[in-house]
Amino acid sequence: METRYRNWIGGEWVEARSGETFVSTNPARPAEELGEFPRSRGEDVRAAVDAAAQAFAAWSRTPAPKRAEILYRVARLLEERKEELARTMTREMGKVLNEARGDVQEAIDMAYYMAGEGRRLLGYTTPSELPSKACFAIRRPIGRIGLITPWNFPIAVPSWKILPALVAGNTLVWKPAEDTPRTAYEFARIFEEAGLPPGVLNVVFGYGEEAGRPLVEHPQIDMISFTGSTEVGRDVYTRAARKLIRVHLEMGGKNPIIVMDDADLDLAVEAIVWSAFGTTGQRCTACSRLIVHEPVYDRLIERLAEATQALRLGDGLDPDVQVGPLVNEVQLDRVHRYVELGIRGGATKILGGERATEGDLAQGYFYKPTLFVDVTPEMRIFREEIFGPVLCVVKARDYDEAIRLANDTTYGLSSAIFTRDIHLAMRAIEDLEAGITYINHGTIGAEIHLPFGGVKDTGNGGREAGLAALDEYTEWKSVYIDYSGRLQKAQGIE
Ligand code: NAD
Repeated sequence: METRYRNWIGGEWVEARSGETFVSTNPARPAEELGEFPRSRGEDVRAAVDAAAQAFAAWSRTPAPKRAEILYRVARLLEERKEELARTMTREMGKVLNEARGDVQEAIDMAYYMAGEGRRLLGYTTPSELPSKACFAIRRPIGRIGLITPWNFPIAVPSWKILPALVAGNTLVWKPAEDTPRTAYEFARIFEEAGLPPGVLNVVFGYGEEAGRPLVEHPQIDMISFTGSTEVGRDVYTRAARKLIRVHLEMGGKNPIIVMDDADLDLAVEAIVWSAFGTTGQRCTACSRLIVHEPVYDRLIERLAEATQALRLGDGLDPDVQVGPLVNEVQLDRVHRYVELGIRGGATKILGGERATEGDLAQGYFYKPTLFVDVTPEMRIFREEIFGPVLCVVKARDYDEAIRLANDTTYGLSSAIFTRDIHLAMRAIEDLEAGITYINHGTIGAEIHLPFGGVKDTGNGGREAGLAALDEYTEWKSVYIDYSGRLQKAQGIE
């Protein structure tokens, strides 16, 4: 057992009021514990929201460039600790070390980017329809924001929320995922060391229904930003709707890659393997449906099977490993249930489809990368988010059928097409129903200065990252200054 960790409320590290705890473990070796964390409930959440409410007046009045100085310090501390944070992340949720480094790097990039916004946070001026009158629009903070995040990007995803929300002058209560509390703790410590005033960011550890729900329902929370499954997001949205507050939702995906007959197949295979099996398939942008143009179908499947077979499973700290474990036993069972559903539904499994139990793998939640062919759009494995190393392959007669298949989903996060035909590539940008489209690249690899998010059941219209993030975490205020000295009525009213 490592240490016992605490919630961060009003600048103090405190136990859950109940004294209850839960333990975080390593999915590659569940006997290894990463610490004991407060199992928070409504009373802890209320204390955290009170702290955020108290801190709001001073923080929102702190000039944005001053707020940004703290973000610069966060960026530098993240750089210094990058390796240490990445190793903790790998031990806690399993992704291979190189990917964990990328996860931390996203937060570093976001910290510098949003720190720069401290000297912009641009509004605009515009002429009035009346003489001697000035008009401008400025950004104001929203207030106290509740953040709820998943385990699969335990630093990157929280950073997309925390950093823009802070630079904009909001105060925050963050409920990190119960599978990655240690990584969240290490991230939170950086804000403390960077000199963030007490209560501006508060962290409450615990489970979704026990700590997440009271945060959503708290009357003093002015906005919820949630990343996680569509099922939970729907519940969060519905509950928050009663309070008429803003809700930002980033949810699931069932992301397609289309490969046309003129594609560079070597490039496509490399990208498909990276998109489908990177992070063990546990990315919201993971490719889980591959749509292949008939003329290259057999050739592509053969090469893909070869490349998939060559993937090495194991502890993500081992530099020779490409695929780490699934995050926990529940996820392992869920992935396997989907594989059984696929087989029963008539799909042909050509690779994987079982837990990996060779040698040391037996102790962890390892699942063999799995390839299904002969998949049809009615099958549940084609329709539902599996969130594991399972790729479903379908054949398309032509471009139009490929697009129809790609769009035949309730999700709409990422999408990709491999083709050398500029006409098809340009058409696909218009035709693919998704928040992100890649040309000649897999479905993963977003950069932090572009908007990130999806259409359909992936989101509710908002976007994370890039300048779009500032629209999420600020309210517009319109200001009219009349210096005519008389009452001028707009719309030409006499
Ligand atoms: P999840 O929905 O189970 O949990 C997400 C968070 O919500 C956790 O912190 C959890 O404790 C909390 N939660 C659970 N029930 C709650 C409730 N009733 N009220 C309030 N909070 C509650 O998701 P997960 O398993 O942690 O993450 C995987 C999911 O996240 C996948 O669906 C994936 O696609 C999605 N995801 C989406 C994006 C994106 O940007 N679109 C990014 C990463 C992950």
